Amino acid sequence: MSEPLFERLALIGVGLIGSSIARAARACGAARTIVATARSAATRRRAAELELADEVAATNGAAVKDADLVIVCVPVGQCGAVAAEIGPHLREGAIVSDVGSVKAQVARDMAPHLPAGIHFVPAHPVAGTEYSGPDAGFAELFVNRWCILTPPEHADPAAVERLSAFWQALGSSVETMSAEHHDLVLAITSHVPHLIAYTIVGTADDLEAVTRSEVMKFSAGGFRDFTRIAASDPTMWRDVFLANREAVLEMLGRFNEDLAALARAIRWADGDALFDLFTRTRAVRRGIVELGQDSGAPDFGRTHAPLPLAPLPRPYAADGE
Ligand code: NAP
Repeated sequence: MSEPLFERLALIGVGLIGSSIARAARACGAARTIVATARSAATRRRAAELELADEVAATNGAAVKDADLVIVCVPVGQCGAVAAEIGPHLREGAIVSDVGSVKAQVARDMAPHLPAGIHFVPAHPVAGTEYSGPDAGFAELFVNRWCILTPPEHADPAAVERLSAFWQALGSSVETMSAEHHDLVLAITSHVPHLIAYTIVGTADDLEAVTRSEVMKFSAGGFRDFTRIAASDPTMWRDVFLANREAVLEMLGRFNEDLAALARAIRWADGDALFDLFTRTRAVRRGIVELGQDSGAPDFGRTHAPLPLAPLPRPYAADGE
């Protein structure tokens, strides 16, 4: 990139998402200077050791001084408190954004603390892994992923355009929608799937008739694919469910009805109903692969161990005898 899009990028929080933004922005030259901070001295120290930013600030207020782009990368339950801390230190004309997985509640929490003359453009990069902390991030996390912007109604179009250009520089495609619509869409594509994974892994862990070691041993039957999602950060996901309560409960109501219908089909041996649904769901998977949102490799591209090369038992050995 010839000229950086921003002079000074401040990242509040350098976990998986904040540290990935730092790495990606540095790699593509989207900001001339990057400043980072985190709540604990230990994380700030780690950010300095990893050289994630040009400067590591001791406080949230100090980090945003003179920044023309501030991105708040903390769990959604912390966003309001962080906005209150940085509000008085923001530079006139700065763009303030976030990466929270829930948009309406976070905007309600942050907006009142941001002074006039600041452009508030909330965002959500729909990209992640089950790991957290500054070591978990990587520069390519956002490549070919969507970043959803949820600007308030009267947001400055130029500020929205600049933030959009920033996310595109990091490899993302950008879409804009209302915060409320975002929360409904993400409830079904992300939040409810996490809840289902947390439930099934919890249920298996509670079973008495099946031992924990059996659950682990035979997990390749399907269970292990839920455990990746269920290993996601407890703080982040507690906050997501508390902040997106209404949309999650609405989608969960629909899910419970459909689950009951499926249970009924099994009880009444309605094979056609099961077959029809499973055919439809298979097409959804194909669509995701075709859109480049996952690899089409079998079994998520897991590698398989080679065949054991132990000698064949004697009756089969072709050793000339
Ligand atoms: P993370 O790895 O746990 O990192 C959170 C960071 O926030 C840490 O550096 C933490 O510092 C810092 N922090 C927490 N409270 C703070 C405060 N009051 N002031 C300053 N720093 C504070 O979390 P993450 O996965 O990056 O998630 C961050 C945000 O991204 C969340 O809002 C989440 O909803 C959103 N998001 C996550 C994913 C995902 O897959 N993980 C995907 C898209 C969006 P300490 O280490 O010192 O506590």
